[in-house]
Amino acid sequence: MNRIFADLPNTIFDVMSQAARDLNAINLGQGFPEDPGPLDVREKAADAVLNGYNQYPSMMGIPELRQAVAKHYAHWHGLQLDAMSEVMITSGATEALTGAILGLVEPGDEVLLFQPMYDSYVPIIRLAGGIPKFIRLEPPHWLLPEEAVRKAITPKTKYVILNNPLNPAAVVYPRQNLEMLARICQEFDLTAICDEVWEHVVFDGREHVPLITLPGMRERTVKIGSAGKIFGLTGWKIGFVCAAPKILRVLTKAHQFITFTTAPNLQVAVAYGLGKADDYFTTMRSDLARSRDRLSDGLSKIGFPVLKSQGTYFVNVDLAPLGLNETDEAFCRRLVHDFKVAAIPVSAFYEEDHVTSVVRFCFSKKDATLDSALERLSKALHA
Ligand code: PMP
Ligand code: GLN
Repeated sequence: MNRIFADLPNTIFDVMSQAARDLNAINLGQGFPEDPGPLDVREKAADAVLNGYNQYPSMMGIPELRQAVAKHYAHWHGLQLDAMSEVMITSGATEALTGAILGLVEPGDEVLLFQPMYDSYVPIIRLAGGIPKFIRLEPPHWLLPEEAVRKAITPKTKYVILNNPLNPAAVVYPRQNLEMLARICQEFDLTAICDEVWEHVVFDGREHVPLITLPGMRERTVKIGSAGKIFGLTGWKIGFVCAAPKILRVLTKAHQFITFTTAPNLQVAVAYGLGKADDYFTTMRSDLARSRDRLSDGLSKIGFPVLKSQGTYFVNVDLAPLGLNETDEAFCRRLVHDFKVAAIPVSAFYEEDHVTSVVRFCFSKKDATLDSALERLSKALHA
């Protein structure tokens, strides 16, 4: 058995969703909306499955979707991509990340990672024979620390993985901080693998800046997106990978033996959705921001120290000032068992030197769900 996988626990998302089901708890753990998603996009998928899109589509993704991705990023970010040589469709961002890591990382290569980090990166880096090097980010600002990045770099460092907007921290990195990373990538000849699945879920007029659009990064960045987050259809698992032809060519070779291709009817619907008018995306943001405010304000009123959410479906609270004498993990366990609310302990996103006082709540839920959760959370804090 391969120890890399045999020794892993089940992902915290699955553990918490299962606990929520078993205990009949309100699930503010795993990030998914309670809303069923845009009807017109779902109708396109249904129509496509009834009218022909059911056999293997092209390995790279259907041309309509690759063109729609290129057009979407040109419109939103001024990023010019050649749809045929620089865009590939995958089965979710998870597959895109796996393919990018397996396709690029060679045994002995060091890969810089910012903790807290999404849980799929490290096992795949290890599978590729790469060596993860961890840089610790901290609340309340979670900014990328230049000195620590420079200190972590050795002659073996080849890649950096950046998740922006950052799940679970709910920060949208400011341009200046990204420019620092871009300069370092060029100084040390690093390639960036950018997990930008949350690119559209940004609030308060914030702008998502794709690292690939910064000067000098166009040829050394892999940009990964996901329709799951753009349309609030997390089960669809339609991902996009964008990179210069010399990089994408290699990632294609990995993709062809991971999943080879991706459900064609869903690709048709996503191609349609990416062309929706700007107000769909801005309304989605303001609706989510309203839910964020409802949960954040409620948590503050109860007495939780709230870390303001700039993007994603998540808001965090820092338990440290409360003096509960309890780790995030213990708190989440008590919360789901005794008060029937599932949340995610942020320490699960660290591999070493854990931050153990931050708890993540998902707010992409109906008002009534958030209100019931708040009632229970109030009891938990004042028990
Ligand atoms: N990266 C991050 C940071 C995520 O939050 C998620 C999903 N929530 C993924 C990757 C995986 O995306 P997908 O569901 O498209 O595989
Ligand atoms: N990205 C989702 C979250 O952070 C979970 C995805 C998963 O369950 N693997 O909650």
